[in-house]
Amino acid sequence: MSVRFCPRDGALLIPQRRGDVILLRCPRCGYEVKSTEGLREGYRQKSGVSEDKRRGVIIAKEERVEIDQEQREELRRQLLENLQETDREGE
Ligand SMILES: [Zn+2]
Repeated sequence: MSVRFCPRDGALLIPQRRGDVILLRCPRCGYEVKSTEGLREGYRQKSGVSEDKRRGVIIAKEERVEIDQEQREELRRQLLENLQETDREGE
């Protein structure tokens, strides 16, 4: 969202929602300017965040699958080693 300043005194304009429009209001002199740009920017930022979250969940799932497969391989290897040891002990 672009930062706007009051043309009268140069104060930072504070965005305020009024119905469907965003008004940029000067806290010093009360100057107001309509900003439709602010609404669009907000929606774009929101959708971007949710996309990143979705991507993050997918990556997390893939990582967990890899770990599970590794753990299963490790368990199988240990099981085989234990079986071999038991056989040796039996002899
Ligand atoms: Zn002002």
